[in-house]
Amino acid sequence: MRTVYVNGEYLPEDEAKISIFDRGFLMADGVYEVTSVLDGKLIDFDGHAVRLKRSLDELDMASPVSDEDLLAIHRDLVEKNGIVEGLVYLQITRGAPADRDFAFPDPDEVPSSIVLFTQNKPGLAASPAAQKGMKVISIEDIRWGRRDIKTVQLLYPSMGKMMAKKAGADDAWMIQDGHVTEGTSNNAYIVKGNKIITRPRSNDILHGITRAAVLRFAEEAQMEVEERLFTIDEAKEADEAFITSASTFVMPVVEIDGVALGDGVPGKVAPRLREIYLDESRKAAI
Ligand code: PMP
Repeated sequence: MRTVYVNGEYLPEDEAKISIFDRGFLMADGVYEVTSVLDGKLIDFDGHAVRLKRSLDELDMASPVSDEDLLAIHRDLVEKNGIVEGLVYLQITRGAPADRDFAFPDPDEVPSSIVLFTQNKPGLAASPAAQKGMKVISIEDIRWGRRDIKTVQLLYPSMGKMMAKKAGADDAWMIQDGHVTEGTSNNAYIVKGNKIITRPRSNDILHGITRAAVLRFAEEAQMEVEERLFTIDEAKEADEAFITSASTFVMPVVEIDGVALGDGVPGKVAPRLREIYLDESRKAAI
């Protein structure tokens, strides 16, 4: 049984409780982060801590813990649960007022709730899916306009994942005004020649922590990066495509809406970036 962290306590998972009045539960009034673990160490913890702070600030939500405590809790959970490869999930919500109300409660009276738990994923780095590549479908992006804030309102991404499964694919890329925004839980890229093309940061997409690292590593490896909008038709004609996220690192995409990219197998750029990302991230892990 897992040991989880809830509001200041380490508990067995079946003893951890959150109020039915918690605004995360009633209103999706909460933010989250997912940090991966390789070799028992946290990947890009600082990046996730900085984005968490930004998400909280954008929503006027108080953090119930300091940055140092946050790191200590992450490390404690990794150790207590013996995680070598896996994930640490963190969620902070606007707490549990005495009753349901649209107005935010006074943060001095209602503290934020915090929950963390680990997910054990042996073989996360050596994933066979990375060898094979994944298939995506395109769907309309009907999410709200502040996708840069990492909130727990994940119903549409979850529906998108189900639409993909139903179509025999692995994930969905979302389209707004004809242009790809991102995957249901990842950032999206296409490759033309040696050029990596991805949508620039804005309120339309989550500013992926893996995205930032991968673009930095790509430039350090003298690969060309172009941050611009691209259409789904352009993607279908690309030489390669891939996604990035904390839980998948870099994952090649080999098919879009049933159209095979190149030879329908992972090309050169995405697997190389995956290798560089994994190497560099392991070196910098804490
Ligand atoms: N976009 C969306 C919509 C996501 O949910 C995620 C992962 N949570 C990402 C991009 C990738 O972000 P990161 O690299 O920080 O995991």
